[in-house]
Amino acid sequence: MRDPKYDILFEPVKIGPVQTRNRFYQVPHCSGMGYRYPNAEARMRGIKAEGGWGVVSTQETEIHPSSDLSAANEGRLWDDSDIPNLKLMSDAVHAHGSLAAIQLVHGGINAPNRYSRLAPISPSNGVVSNDDPYQAREMDKADIATFRQWHVDAAKRAKKAGFDIIYVYAGHDMTLLQHFLLARHNHRSDEYGGSFENRLRLFREVIEDTKEAVGDTCAIAVRLAVDELMGSDGFRCEVEGKDIIEALADEPDLWDVNISDWSNDSQTSRFAKEGYQEPYTAFVKSITTKPVVGVGRYTSPDKMVELINKNHLDLIGAARPSIADPFLPLKISEGRLEDIRECIGCNICVSGDNTNSPMRCTQNPTVGEEWRRNWHPERIQKVRIPKKYLIVGGGPSGLEAASSLIKSGNDVILADASDYWGGRVTLESKLPGLAEWSRVRDWRIWQLQQVPNAELYLKSKLTSEDLLSYGVENIVLATGASWRADGVGRIHRAPLKYLNSNRILTPDDVMAGKLLDDMSKGPIVIFDDDRFYMGSVLAEVAVKTGRKVVFISSTPTVSAWSENTLEQSRIQSKLMNLNIEIITSHKLCNHQDKQLSISCLFTEKILQIECETLILVTSRIPNDILWRELSTKKDTWKDMGIETVTRIGDCLQPGLIAMAVQSGHKFVRAVEEQQEDLFKREDQNYPRN
Ligand code: ADP
Ligand code: SF4
Repeated sequence: MRDPKYDILFEPVKIGPVQTRNRFYQVPHCSGMGYRYPNAEARMRGIKAEGGWGVVSTQETEIHPSSDLSAANEGRLWDDSDIPNLKLMSDAVHAHGSLAAIQLVHGGINAPNRYSRLAPISPSNGVVSNDDPYQAREMDKADIATFRQWHVDAAKRAKKAGFDIIYVYAGHDMTLLQHFLLARHNHRSDEYGGSFENRLRLFREVIEDTKEAVGDTCAIAVRLAVDELMGSDGFRCEVEGKDIIEALADEPDLWDVNISDWSNDSQTSRFAKEGYQEPYTAFVKSITTKPVVGVGRYTSPDKMVELINKNHLDLIGAARPSIADPFLPLKISEGRLEDIRECIGCNICVSGDNTNSPMRCTQNPTVGEEWRRNWHPERIQKVRIPKKYLIVGGGPSGLEAASSLIKSGNDVILADASDYWGGRVTLESKLPGLAEWSRVRDWRIWQLQQVPNAELYLKSKLTSEDLLSYGVENIVLATGASWRADGVGRIHRAPLKYLNSNRILTPDDVMAGKLLDDMSKGPIVIFDDDRFYMGSVLAEVAVKTGRKVVFISSTPTVSAWSENTLEQSRIQSKLMNLNIEIITSHKLCNHQDKQLSISCLFTEKILQIECETLILVTSRIPNDILWRELSTKKDTWKDMGIETVTRIGDCLQPGLIAMAVQSGHKFVRAVEEQQEDLFKREDQNYPRN
């Protein structure tokens, strides 16, 4: 039963000519499953409607070939032939009584047009936003009129495709309309540039055009970045952001407000906590009478109620919380708050879009698999005859396998050598900024603690003899991986024989407290060849010792892969502000006593640096000793009552936490639903001559 204090979240809200059934609003977000995988996209969005999101939006959807975001895989509505693909999604959303919204976009300089090969367009001459070595051409008046027509045409197509809410989008420093508004992009001297009114003109016109074209039955939403966190170089919520809202206050049917660019809008939990956009967006409701939606990685229903009650928002916007738990609204509605799988703010989902591939989610292993593998976030095939599974290792993969096995009706024994659950996720969540990652453990262990058929044992290190003697028919090895101390990674593919092991720590050692226990005074050197977050968070730990810290990276920037999670520049500036010495594009070449030699990857010039402690963040080795020992005794399994032995997670393939969770889940689906590695594909459906 739902607590009545949450009733307010389930009130309908009128948005222009349409009405949403509740206040849960999945704002537009990329999925990496755009126009190339329309069935996957439609199913993923439809499941969110099933889970109770009253409005479900597309990702940014290109309105014309001059807004070609290739190789990104966004939505596409260039002409009528794109309508059926998008209709798949609006139908899937309508099937559950929700409204479908579409975010139309012209990317302007953000669209490099690599596929269409048209000249990118812009308010003023200037280079395109990415590193492609070419420019956009300045639009003349005829171009502006043509662009307005493209937007109208796309809005009409969107209506035909069944959408209820149609966006005019000026956010994320990614759209032509935002660039017309901004003095730093718009250097024009005609009536579309110069004064604030002039820069606003095109935005106002496009809102009016869209209303006139489709506003009879569709609501017109405006997505606006009210602040860009760049001072007077961009919008500020107290100056131009506010001026725009005031000037257009009741023009749109809905304001969807956020902060720009994407790295500010989708900040990770390492850098921002739930509700981080409130100081910037809170003012909007005081200016307009139209409904306002805003985001802030909201997962707490109490917080949501507070936002409505204090008249900050009308609709609770969510991208990531709706990915981590597509059924979040339904769970609140049914009073199942403990069952909400909260987003951990890691941005692995974002990395899907940035690598042009269907998104993954650390918390929700079914995302991206809804259509191609028919995975549902809340349902799994129930077995007819329960089996018994012994899972060794209670990290992310073991916990996910255990809870999914329970859901499918099996019995589970879960054993872990340590005195805590969660494996690496527990250790990593104690590192600076990563506390929310413990939600991966908490949600799963809570699920397991609710049922009688999950036996949970801590402090239980199991040997292969134990496993053979227990005679449990199905054994799952989720024993994780250990960081290497021999330098092997991307840049050094073979073990480095010269390393002085007395002076080396691995991330496992640091997480076990060995750095803080060390009374040495000399410099700590971190060699990061892993390239994601670990090296940088360990640098933050190292700084706390008061010792000098040097960060050596094998790439030209710190934590290069974190570009994909939108964290790279935040990480690098954090380390610089902590006075950590950063040396980029170097590899190791010798290590004698307290001297470390490194060489430049470009010039091969050698640098000697003083190094009391060397922390190697390179790669990991699977903890697969049980697997290897059991494999050598395979001929005895049958006699011992063992049918299967399976490796999952980091023990099979060291990787992201998201991959370990997915591996645990996939194992259960493979067993219970007889799924194989092949999945349904959408890349073969082209007409062939
Ligand atoms: P993953 O990410 O694949 O889930 P983790 O490294 O997070 O892997 O977790 C592995 C877990 O397995 C750790 O908690 C560790 O204590 C446990 N473990 C490893 N070897 C054994 C063993 N022989 N017996 C019991 N537990 C083990
Ligand atoms: Fe949240 Fe991480 Fe999942 Fe994205 S990948 S929705 S940030 S838990």
